[in-house]
Amino acid sequence: MTQEISAIYPGSFDPVTNGHLDIVERGRSIFDRVVVAVSVNQDKNPLFTIEERIEMLRDVTRQWDNVEIDQFDGLLVDYATSRGASVILRGIRAVTDFDYEFQMALMNRRLAGSIETVFLVPAEAYEYLSSSLVKEVASLGGTVSGLLPLLVEELLSAKLEALTDADKEL
Ligand code: ADP
Repeated sequence: MTQEISAIYPGSFDPVTNGHLDIVERGRSIFDRVVVAVSVNQDKNPLFTIEERIEMLRDVTRQWDNVEIDQFDGLLVDYATSRGASVILRGIRAVTDFDYEFQMALMNRRLAGSIETVFLVPAEAYEYLSSSLVKEVASLGGTVSGLLPLLVEELLSAKLEALTDADKEL
């Protein structure tokens, strides 16, 4: 019997976009299991709570039986080892991602030589898509349809509305 390969797909997913899902879908067709792991300590000022981000991810990956959603704290390689994963999956977009991603991949290899980082490229339509850009455009009233799952789009607009209302009350 060949050994099953699990991949960890780490990130802040604040919120999950169609670009993230594109990578999950490609990853799940290569590896036996993909664990989407939301980083607890990465982003100091997220728009969505960790619970909200996890719930959205669970909702939009429900149809994929070899995809699991989890959260992690501390060193990614320690988490990957604890999950028995031998692969760190990352999505790579335009050239701007390379420098940071190379640094991370080499540092993680230094920390845990048996874990390989695998980069996947999304469909062209998502090449310039990021959670932060989506949040910026949506907060300025621009349309982000087609860039996010419908449920996430609705939750994003509700969240931004709630924030605007809270601002008005100050
Ligand atoms: P991080 O803060 O760790 O970059 P993100 O949630 O922004 O977390 O991204 C998680 C992973 O998904 C990263 O590897 C990132 O490069 C990748 N990613 C984000 N957006 C896209 C996209 N539109 N297409 C492909 N990969 C993406």
